[in-house]
Amino acid sequence: MSLITATGLTVKVGDVTALTGVNFAIRPGEIVTIVGPNGSGKSTLLRALIGAVKPAKGMVERKPGLRIGYVPQKLAIDATLPLTVRRFLNLPHRRAASDIDTALREADVAGLADRQMSALSGGQFQRVLLARALMDRPELLILDEATQGLDQPGSAAFYQKIADLRDSLNCAVLMVSHELHVVMSASDRVICLNGHVCCEGAPDIVASAPEYRALFGTGTGGALALYRHEHTHSHDHTHDHGHNHDHEAAE
Ligand code: ADP
Ligand code: MG
Repeated sequence: MSLITATGLTVKVGDVTALTGVNFAIRPGEIVTIVGPNGSGKSTLLRALIGAVKPAKGMVERKPGLRIGYVPQKLAIDATLPLTVRRFLNLPHRRAASDIDTALREADVAGLADRQMSALSGGQFQRVLLARALMDRPELLILDEATQGLDQPGSAAFYQKIADLRDSLNCAVLMVSHELHVVMSASDRVICLNGHVCCEGAPDIVASAPEYRALFGTGTGGALALYRHEHTHSHDHTHDHGHNHDHEAAE
């Protein structure tokens, strides 16, 4: 039985249709990675799955009582606000000190409980967000570009941590990453998203797909190539001659 199933999911963000007709399911213990260019609806899909945005069409079904740990893509904390890691982890409601210590230890930041949130490095901040997501003993851990801003060794270490946590907590993992080459070996399944599901499958299947090679192919400049996402299939219903869609970076 799946933890979450989305069927025919269409989601609007303001006037923009961010997702059209997406079908998705994740099973217990599975590691699924979503890749796709900027603005392709990756964050929107995660938000729809956790119930933070309502679908315009289709539906999302969650296993009753499903425990989800969610690490958002962006979390802005006012740098002038005095807030220790421990207090942050006690929001929005108070936690047992032992639960906080366990989660910090699991995220490899046991010594940071009394630090100011504003004084953390990028990598430490992400680990604290991870600790927060672990506190409810999730059956499904959802991470939205959790390694954004980390250097390559930092992000490789982070993903190794995620793989270890999956093994120790026995949870499923759904993550968005720009670094499929890093997360690939750890993923059971990869979904290439561009407003709809372009291709999906085992990492080696996706790796040999034209969509994937356009994203990460040799000599195309790694992450930069994300913004030039080449499709061999048509996105409209009139022709099927293989259009090239250029997606300009929004940032
Ligand atoms: P991704 O995570 O793949 O970069 P998003 O899910 O954030 O993509 O965005 C999907 C679409 O929704 C994009 O076209 C984006 O411009 C639009 N969008 C996202 N957030 C907002 C917002 N706060 N206001 C207006 N449009 C948004
Ligand atoms: Mg996003």
